[in-house]
Amino acid sequence: MVLIAWWRALLQDDTALILPATLAHEIAHQALGHPGRRILRLLTHLQCAGLAFGVLAMALHAPWPLILVTAVVTVAARLCLDRTYCHDELAADLHAVTLLDRAGIPGRRAIGATLAEDAAAEPRWHALTGWIFTGHPTVSARLRNLRQGR
Ligand SMILES: [Zn+2]
Repeated sequence: MVLIAWWRALLQDDTALILPATLAHEIAHQALGHPGRRILRLLTHLQCAGLAFGVLAMALHAPWPLILVTAVVTVAARLCLDRTYCHDELAADLHAVTLLDRAGIPGRRAIGATLAEDAAAEPRWHALTGWIFTGHPTVSARLRNLRQGR
């Protein structure tokens, strides 16, 4: 009886869709093999090695072109890492829609409800420029991705 009431609430109330949508998004990351991918480990190691080498090069007063190249490689690794994370987030949203639909839960509506909740909590700095410096796409980019379905 409680399960039926919960199921009805789930299908009628968007806020009730947030929990299954959040779980589906995280399951989608696992299903798509996002954690532990070789490229993520490689980029992380490259970024850390670049940072350590750069600090060492500065401490040893290495020639500035060497320090500059090290900085460029380190920043490039970080940006590639962030782009990869952003791509993974968008892919997880779309795969979560599929998983939820298969479970009889309106996937697009559920993920949309979750993103609407996220939009209210998204800091303004992230909405404006955060996509450049973080591994999470903006909520508006995720909503656009959800609408376009790619
Ligand atoms: Zn995610």
